[in-house]
Amino acid sequence: MSQKQLIDSTYVVIGGESPIVKVVTDVKFYTKIAAGFKVEDRNLQCIENTEYIIDKIIAINSIEHIIYTANHREIKYKKLCLCTGATPKLLDDKDYVIGLRDTHSVEYFQSIVGSAKRVLIVGNGGIATDLVYKLNAIEIIWVIRDEHISSHFLDAGAAEFFSNYLNTQQPSDRVIKRFRYSGEPTSGAALGPDWHCGAMFGNLDGKNVIIEYKTEIKNISKSDLVRIELTNGKVYECDFVVSATGVTPNSNLEIRGDTSIDIASDGGIKVDWKMETSLSDIFAAGDVCTVDWTSEHWFQMRLWTQARQMGMYAAKCMYFKHTNETLLQDFCFELFTHVTSFFGFKVILLGLYNAQGLDKKDCELLVRVTNGQEYIKLVLKNGRVVGAMLIGDTDLEEMCENLILNQIDVTNLMDDLLDPNIDIEDYFD
Ligand SMILES: Cc1cc2nc3c(=O)[nH]c(=O)nc-3n(C[C@H](O)[C@H](O)[C@H](O)COP(=O)(O)OP(=O)(O)OC[C@H]3O[C@@H](n4cnc5c(N)ncnc54)[C@H](O)[C@@H]3O)c2cc1C
Repeated sequence: MSQKQLIDSTYVVIGGESPIVKVVTDVKFYTKIAAGFKVEDRNLQCIENTEYIIDKIIAINSIEHIIYTANHREIKYKKLCLCTGATPKLLDDKDYVIGLRDTHSVEYFQSIVGSAKRVLIVGNGGIATDLVYKLNAIEIIWVIRDEHISSHFLDAGAAEFFSNYLNTQQPSDRVIKRFRYSGEPTSGAALGPDWHCGAMFGNLDGKNVIIEYKTEIKNISKSDLVRIELTNGKVYECDFVVSATGVTPNSNLEIRGDTSIDIASDGGIKVDWKMETSLSDIFAAGDVCTVDWTSEHWFQMRLWTQARQMGMYAAKCMYFKHTNETLLQDFCFELFTHVTSFFGFKVILLGLYNAQGLDKKDCELLVRVTNGQEYIKLVLKNGRVVGAMLIGDTDLEEMCENLILNQIDVTNLMDDLLDPNIDIEDYFD
């Protein structure tokens, strides 16, 4: 998502390292803000009215307004938006420790998984969760630091809800298809929500997932197999390790001139509410940036949803600065939203769905669980809904979004709020 188009008469440089851009397609809005979509690989040529250069930016002179590239180009700019993404943190720089990031890394993974009998996956976010679900005919050792799976997105109850699906095998008729392009392997854009395009198969009869909770990797070595020692004292041998332990923003661009760019403690380029960095006329969006603001029900998470929202908003911010018009912050930053799927279930997360940043004793939780069907949790503070975790086809996303955005006092409706026999929307008509 490194393309920004400001106004028709302005040529925009896309500083990409490969001729492929990720394009968002099939956007489906579940609520006013929460959207699901596909991300597809397209050739840069498909983008109209845009001049593009395939090169790597290595330095910026923020005073002279010049970008320097690896191929010795010098490009003058008026406004610049950095969308250089992030790189996965790797446990070890060895070919048997794989970090999934872009098309090439997934293709490499797919090329070796077919002969594997056992893999070890480290990490507890979306990629690890997705991988555990999509891998079949293999034994998986899933190493997590937390007390329950998928802690980035789920609470302990939701993790329990999914526990029955850990060993579920996928049908083998879903063929993996991927857009291929020729050229040097580069650190291309991160993958989209549908990054694996289907099930993947190892070389074992059946699937078995073993979860090692509250532990970390102590040592990795290799002889015939890869040998992993965990901090809980256990030792496993496997074919290879998948490292899915988060990302580091690609913010290490050299800044020439007499000043540096402000970097946040997580390594991201700091941006204010107008997506501006500390350097004049330089903006940043997506995984590379760290916002130094938040709103009551929104927080940053390095996701496609936010990369897309920030990209569109940053373009608007650049345009408004260019034309000197008054800017209002985009509505999408009023509410955190994420639409995804785990273990085949639709998952919609809204607002402070895990009571993020709240004192737990000030919160009340309303939960409805129907095993194998749905898991619904509303987070309330002072009688008002501030977050929701909706798993399954709950049909409650619009109601929850409205309750969070409008901050209606639901103290007197608590008993009815999750009663499947009561249509709560009627109260607000
Ligand atoms: C395996 C995987 C699965 C994921 N699944 C999901 C998911 O299901 N849902 C979800 O919401 N998010 C998911 N994410 C996260 C999501 O992909 C990222 O949040 C999103 O891609 C960030 O977009 P971006 O434009 O900021 O960065 P990127 O998509 O990483 O794009 C950065 C671009 O900048 C280019 N670049 C980098 N440095 C330079 C340089 N110096 N000069 C020129 N160009 C440069 C790169 O080549 C790349 O094209 C996943 C990520 C991974 C790795």
